[in-house]
Amino acid sequence: MSTSEPDQRQIIERALRDRLSLIPHELRDAFHAYQDEHYRRFLLVVTLLGQLAYMSYVLADMIVVPDVFDLSIAVRSAYIALVLPLTLGMFLWSRNIRLLDLLLPVQIFFAAILWFELLVRSSSPWVTTYQYASVIFIVLANLCVQVRFLPSLAISLLISAAVMQGVYRLAAGNQEVVLVFSLVYLPVLLFSLFISWSTTLDRRRAFLRALLDRMTREDLSAVNDKLQALAHIDPLTGIGNRRDFEMRAQRELARAQRYQRPLSLLSLDVDHFKRINDTHGHAVGDEVLRALARVANQELREHDLLARFGGEEFVALLPDTTLDEALVVAERMRGALGACCVLSGEAGIRFTVSVGVAQLADGSSELTSLLKAADKALYQAKQKGRNQVCLAFRSMLTES
Ligand code: GH3
Ligand code: MG
Ligand code: MG
Repeated sequence: MSTSEPDQRQIIERALRDRLSLIPHELRDAFHAYQDEHYRRFLLVVTLLGQLAYMSYVLADMIVVPDVFDLSIAVRSAYIALVLPLTLGMFLWSRNIRLLDLLLPVQIFFAAILWFELLVRSSSPWVTTYQYASVIFIVLANLCVQVRFLPSLAISLLISAAVMQGVYRLAAGNQEVVLVFSLVYLPVLLFSLFISWSTTLDRRRAFLRALLDRMTREDLSAVNDKLQALAHIDPLTGIGNRRDFEMRAQRELARAQRYQRPLSLLSLDVDHFKRINDTHGHAVGDEVLRALARVANQELREHDLLARFGGEEFVALLPDTTLDEALVVAERMRGALGACCVLSGEAGIRFTVSVGVAQLADGSSELTSLLKAADKALYQAKQKGRNQVCLAFRSMLTES
């Protein structure tokens, strides 16, 4: 299922307003992918550090419960030998961040059971004091949780059950010992749960904000692209404007010189356009310009470049075209435009164009001199009576 972008934005904003709300259903996959990207490494490191800490407690066992020290080494080593490859394997192969998030809490649950099994086998007088170290289990299990609170709450309750059962066995029926331990343990449990709850809420909000930021960035870049495109398009005719033409023409010029290919330019101007405007109105004049762009484009090849240079002046750049070939194109275009009929009220009006044609001189790299030469030829066409095509001669290209 896909949700449109404004809808998604609304969903995200709504979720951000309510601190307690869950990640919306349609964003769950993206949320887990985000968590995986940002917290996978962190979860691996804390899980390995947790295992290291569990192993390091053999030293405390050696001092506090020396009678079960050998068993402690054996049990802790066997446990780490089991969970270490399991951890590395899961982080290597599993893409499920929700599972990886719970790996350390689950390991802590079994570690707590094993540790109390050691303590109940010890006859050290320090055991009832030492058991208070078990609060570290619940703290560690909740410190690392990043993705989901409810499963971590369930495991926290399991860890607490394992701890309380161990304490109960060590107390050997002494209710007071159990009560005092519970009074110490409960605030630590609540504090730890608060930490994991608050972390998971923060992670949700960080994800939603990142998503919103990305959408805003994408919107901005789309608007930028649109503005860029608009800056190069003549809004009246829909073809490229002078800026667009000059940019592209420079590339064509460079290409023509590099591969020693001919390149020609037509400069077109509507004859007596002012008269058309004055007689039929500006709107009809606009329609003439639109028709000109449309018809002229039909006479060109795909890689020719037509642009509105300003007012009623147009240019067309013809790559791989000699002066003689460009003359043929210009005549064909003049004929097609002369045959074109634009509606002015009920009546149809016709218009003509004059065209100047120039070819890029060998070795010349100047777009301006090519434009100037085509313009001079256009001026000649006007001088000779309009509605005709004139060619620029080599001398026109070199004259400044
Ligand atoms: P010539 O045959 O010598 O080219 O004469 P002309 O009347 O075509 O040339 P002139 O430069 O005297 O007039 C051009 C006119 O084009 C004047 C200007 O108001 C009009 N014009 C420029 N831009 C637009 C436009 O976007 N729409 C319309 N309708 N008219 C425009
Ligand atoms: Mg003009
Ligand atoms: Mg004109």
